[in-house]
Amino acid sequence: MPEMSLNVRLLEMTQDPIALIYAACRQCYSAKFAAEMFDEKDENPKKQAEFIRKVVASGHESPLEHVKFTFAIEGVSRALTHQLVRHRIASFSQQSQRYVKETNFDYIVPPSIAEDKDLESEFLSIMGSIQASYNKLLEKFKAKGRVGERANEDVRFVLPQAAETKIVVTMNTRELIHFFHQRCCARAQWEIKRLAARMLSLCIENLPEVFSEVGAKCVGLGYCPEGENFTCGKYPLKEKVLGKK
Ligand SMILES: Cc1cc2nc3c(=O)[nH]c(=O)nc-3n(C[C@H](O)[C@H](O)[C@H](O)COP(=O)(O)OP(=O)(O)OC[C@H]3O[C@@H](n4cnc5c(N)ncnc54)[C@H](O)[C@@H]3O)c2cc1C
Repeated sequence: MPEMSLNVRLLEMTQDPIALIYAACRQCYSAKFAAEMFDEKDENPKKQAEFIRKVVASGHESPLEHVKFTFAIEGVSRALTHQLVRHRIASFSQQSQRYVKETNFDYIVPPSIAEDKDLESEFLSIMGSIQASYNKLLEKFKAKGRVGERANEDVRFVLPQAAETKIVVTMNTRELIHFFHQRCCARAQWEIKRLAARMLSLCIENLPEVFSEVGAKCVGLGYCPEGENFTCGKYPLKEKVLGKK
């Protein structure tokens, strides 16, 4: 029943993303067929990237939806995935607590607990007792002849939000930018913020033409829309930049 740490791998992304976004963008403004413009992909990739940057900056973001990224994520808590799956323009496949027995479940320890010996020992003891209760309930179900997912599906009710889980996530580029705007913000919860930072660095590595300027929403806006009670202070408040409405 060990503590787990975050692991994120980019499993796959759309091939020729720049050529694809470029062809989709140009189709809107050109009499030519997108397929011909897609076939020009090796002609001037720099020009294509610059074109995309300008179109996207103008707010014409739908061409970004044609390119998608798929991540495999492990070492995150169920508390994190509950937040992650709130993003609706995405596809998810998550490890099941019905089909996978949790007789030796892993868990995530929040840094605020790990850095304090007293809190940590209390936390570990709670994890141990939840595990013991889980295993005991499973045994009792077995004695009644109820096993497999028919037992797991009810015994899992005692598992904590700290329980480690694994999930595969696919998002298109437009949704990823929206996800980073929300989840790279200082206001986001620490665990999903850490995941977003890891995903963003993989996106920048693999598609810098689109992601190199992306971050929390304030990065693009040049001001903080969160209001004075919530701002981290990195950017001026919206009212300061745009004036009071
Ligand atoms: C700091 C923070 C605190 C939060 N606190 C809470 C909380 O206390 N309680 C809580 O319940 N949630 C909370 N959330 C979750 C939040 O309300 C959203 O559910 C979540 O962030 C997903 O974002 P979204 O709905 O913008 O985007 P997505 O679901 O990722 O969708 C992307 C965009 O598509 C459009 N869209 C998608 N579906 C629809 C639709 N049905 N109708 C119209 N437009 C749509 C919207 O423009 C949306 O922004 C919090 C989020 C953050 C970042």
